[in-house]
Amino acid sequence: MSGTLYIVATPIGNLEDVTARAKRVLSEVDTIICEDTRVTAKLLTHLQIKKPLLSFHEHSTPAYIKRCVDELQQGKSLAYVSDAGTPGVNDPADMLVEAAFTKGIKIEPIPGPSALSVAISVCGFRMDEFAYVGFVPHKKGRETLFRQIAAREEPTIFFESTHRILKTLEQLKGHLAADRLIFCARELTKLHETLYRGTLDEVLAQLQATSTKGEFVVIVGPA
Ligand code: SAM
Repeated sequence: MSGTLYIVATPIGNLEDVTARAKRVLSEVDTIICEDTRVTAKLLTHLQIKKPLLSFHEHSTPAYIKRCVDELQQGKSLAYVSDAGTPGVNDPADMLVEAAFTKGIKIEPIPGPSALSVAISVCGFRMDEFAYVGFVPHKKGRETLFRQIAAREEPTIFFESTHRILKTLEQLKGHLAADRLIFCARELTKLHETLYRGTLDEVLAQLQATSTKGEFVVIVGPA
């Protein structure tokens, strides 16, 4: 009988956020597939779990994916974890999951934190409907995306890095109505977690008065 492919969410900063189920599954599987073995090794050391680690990323070859599927078909159980958060949310779990579906292998999600859901929970906007656009492109397509975000009635969520947060918000200013609210979360669940909310001008001022270091989730509020 085939083994199970577990897709396991891990903390986005605060290691206390690992679930009891994630911990049990990671300690029970034969192998853990991860993005960066160094990142996952740190989590496993914290959890006092010792397991073989295999690295998997968006450039992993079909032969590599086949090897994982073969192991599952031989009855081994595998867990996939990304560097942080929920696999599949801007992390490369899809190829593995699709290959497992194709072969009729059992797939089990082990839910937990995601920067996406954590930001939604504290943004204070009605989020019954929203658009999620992942990362803002670095070069081509930025202006088009900003126009689409401004034209959309429902909120839009995107991820941004420390290097581009100011540039992105400044550029977005050229498109959004001056009174449209935005929410910006920095370093969620970590020591320097900071939540910013207001008009773009207000959030830019708050960011400049504090820090632009760390990881960001931005939510443009409803029109
Ligand atoms: N799969 C992950 C998840 O579910 O959270 C997201 C992966 S995506 C490659 C990484 C991006 O998510 C970061 O560049 C940042 O924009 C956002 N992010 C991740 N952790 C965060 C945190 N603790 N605080 C704010 N944003 C975070």
